[in-house]
Amino acid sequence: MGATMLRLHNTLTRTVEPIRPLVPGSVAMYSCGPTVYRPVHIGNLRSFLLADLIRRVLTWTGLEVRQVMNITDVGHMTDEVYDRGEDKMLLAAADEGLSPAEIAAKYEAAFHRDSDRIGILPAEVYPKASDHISPMIDLIGRLIERGHAYVDGGTVYYDVTTFPDYGQLSHNSLDQLRAGHRLDTVDHHKRHPADFLLWKAAGPRRVVRFDSPWGEGYPGWHIECSAMSIAYLGERFDIHTGGVDLAFPHHEDEIAQSEGALGHPVVSTWVHGDHLLFSGQKMAKSSGNVWTLDRLEEEGHHPLDFRYLCLTSRYRRQLRFSPDALAAAGKARSRLAAQLAEWGPPGRGPETPAAKEWEQRFRDAVLDDLDFPRAITVVWGVADDDAVSPAERAALLTDWDRVLGLGLGALAGEVASAQEQALPAEAAALLDERQAARASRDWAKSDRLRDSLHELGVEVSDTPEGTTWHWREG
Ligand SMILES: [Zn+2]
Repeated sequence: MGATMLRLHNTLTRTVEPIRPLVPGSVAMYSCGPTVYRPVHIGNLRSFLLADLIRRVLTWTGLEVRQVMNITDVGHMTDEVYDRGEDKMLLAAADEGLSPAEIAAKYEAAFHRDSDRIGILPAEVYPKASDHISPMIDLIGRLIERGHAYVDGGTVYYDVTTFPDYGQLSHNSLDQLRAGHRLDTVDHHKRHPADFLLWKAAGPRRVVRFDSPWGEGYPGWHIECSAMSIAYLGERFDIHTGGVDLAFPHHEDEIAQSEGALGHPVVSTWVHGDHLLFSGQKMAKSSGNVWTLDRLEEEGHHPLDFRYLCLTSRYRRQLRFSPDALAAAGKARSRLAAQLAEWGPPGRGPETPAAKEWEQRFRDAVLDDLDFPRAITVVWGVADDDAVSPAERAALLTDWDRVLGLGLGALAGEVASAQEQALPAEAAALLDERQAARASRDWAKSDRLRDSLHELGVEVSDTPEGTTWHWREG
């Protein structure tokens, strides 16, 4: 008996656990989205892809998935940046001669386009931070009421010492955190160095500012994810995803906020994906090794080749990116599509024991904490297994691509029509003639025509779904 339920590594418990939805049949999932002030790079995209894979696997097993992904369009700032009363959105705006709202709209559209290009299915809702200032203010008010937050000169801080479980996600203790802060970089308005901002009083140069009970200002970054996840998914939901660098402090702070305000756990399973490395370094604008999808395409690759590359590494491991690895992934994807084209139309599904066995192996792999490298091995295994009919192989691969998201059906169609266009008129005429011979059950003529086609380099195969052809190899 194989697996039937997706199991994922929960950062909170550090174990791989089955996903048992709170509402049977329907999974609620929140994914930290992009900050929209520049194009996302492929390292960011790897993290968004993780959420897409979770969602596709859950859907494939018959569950409904409600996915919410936030769009951070109000700048969250590093300490040094907001000391200048500026933020990244604003700096980008100044650079490009656009307003902060125009910058956000421009890069939000670019983000959706990039997601689409690597086969990420759209979330149900993409709430924007700037549209949710009032639920954030409500949540901050509740934290002050419950004694988890304090106000200092129009700025509101979370008091981490009031939340005994602080550090549970990142496995830090408050003493370790205190020791980890260099005294000279600490904001001296904070009571504990790990206290964090909920609301920041606006400096005189701050353009994007909102009214609040504590004066004009703007929200901290972490509060938007607490406020918007609760607003859209309720006070308890199943899965929260993000990149590994968000576990601390972003998600640790989100837990302190949400649970501090509500008095109970909110998220069942926290899933974090590891970095993409390029030349041994994390891809980051500061290290100057950034690849966007535009660059990837300019260098002659297809965005879905990047998706294939991501599937060859487990999500909790670092993925080593290189142009060569990307090219190899592209070749592999094209070869799969060519096979699919060659197999002809898919049958109804796996019917023979051999095909069912492959089906179970694929299922076991993807349900086992998204073991896609193993799933890819299964894909190539069935591709090479002559014991499974072409129609069954096509059926399996077509169904699995609902999870893999590699666009194999479309690519196979392109391959097939390119082949057809490339078929010389002489061969096309012979194929038609052979089709007519088969229709009138003239097998001798049909065999003779097969031999003539063979001499022209064209191999035909007759399947229950009809006749297909491919160029003879070698
Ligand atoms: Zn977030």
